[in-house]
Amino acid sequence: MQMVDLVGQYHKIKDEVDRAVEQVFETAAFINGPAVKNFANNLSSYISEPGDVNLNVVPCANGTDALQIALMALGLKPGDEVIVPAFTYVASAEVIGLLGLTPVMVDVDYNTFCVTIENIKKGYSPKTKAIIPVHLFGQCCDMEPILQFAKEKNIFVIEDNAQAIGAVYTFSDGRKAKAGTMGDIGCTSFFPSKNLGCFGDGGAMFIKDDEIAARAKMIANHGQRIKYHHSVIGCNSRLDTVQAAILDVKLKHLDQYCQARYDAASYYTQKLKELDPSGKFYVTPYERANSTHVYHQYTLKVKNNYRDELKEHLASQGVPSMIYYPLPLQEQEAFKPITRSAEELNISRELAYSVLSLPIHTEITTDIQDVVIGAIKSFLDSH
Ligand SMILES: *Cc1c(COP(=O)(O)O)cnc(C)c1O
Repeated sequence: MQMVDLVGQYHKIKDEVDRAVEQVFETAAFINGPAVKNFANNLSSYISEPGDVNLNVVPCANGTDALQIALMALGLKPGDEVIVPAFTYVASAEVIGLLGLTPVMVDVDYNTFCVTIENIKKGYSPKTKAIIPVHLFGQCCDMEPILQFAKEKNIFVIEDNAQAIGAVYTFSDGRKAKAGTMGDIGCTSFFPSKNLGCFGDGGAMFIKDDEIAARAKMIANHGQRIKYHHSVIGCNSRLDTVQAAILDVKLKHLDQYCQARYDAASYYTQKLKELDPSGKFYVTPYERANSTHVYHQYTLKVKNNYRDELKEHLASQGVPSMIYYPLPLQEQEAFKPITRSAEELNISRELAYSVLSLPIHTEITTDIQDVVIGAIKSFLDSH
């Protein structure tokens, strides 16, 4: 058994993918070929609300670059503070440090793994220039109050949407928006195991404002608008044409992939609640009312320090599981010297020491899930 089955997923769309890739090979349009623009346009239609102006999609080399270029495009300067959750993948905070900005770590909500407006307010100072809400594991942060606060304080919102592409957030007035399209810039990753993954590295930014989009595009291309005329220091961050061609095929299947993950998650939750009705051993994922969940990960919170023992037990039964993420950022060596934190970050710590993610992917079947559930049952039975 595997955490993800990318080979199985490929085999189902092999003809389409192979044809798309061959076309790139036959034209040798490896750098900025037509597939890159086509994919960006199609992704833009996918994420934009019908009737609205389509958002700018700026492709780049990976999700980490997307976050870095976003911070650069917004003109943040050394000394500026950026609020980031302490419980996230390192990339969300790494780029802040890399640019000489100060990451301000704030705690997350125990139920959703996401930052809340209360957490953000604790981290805010007059030096705050941006917030990076991370839609962790596939569900949107509660964006409405965050956006409102950012507007009041005149600070930027950069969504880390690496794990939630396809998720939909509903505002209190009923308006809907896709994850990554609500802030000033939304950053996403096409790492192979992400919900929309390519066959290597890839990333993109979603940007409403045309000027900011043009700036991000320029930064991703050596800071040039006209070839060999460099107006700012930029970087070299491109989405490969081959990857764009593959992504364009997979984009057509994204909604169905989200549904498959959601169905698998519902099955786990139903069965796992039956096994542990009093919640003595674990807490199943929480689904907030105003966001859909695309289940990039299916993550349990394991109680009573049983986490590591359960992980070992599953492994002994041939069932893989993963800890995303074993250390909160405030405990990472690299961040200690540069971080400011406004509070204790106890929930991030508690989560890091209790989370366990089970296999979930687009090809998983209830038969496979029954093996996972059976292995969990035998653990419970022996305690
Ligand atoms: C994967 C991921 C990234 C970075 O994406 P890469 O394409 O691997 O650089 C950033 N943030 C989060 C939350 C991620 O899961």
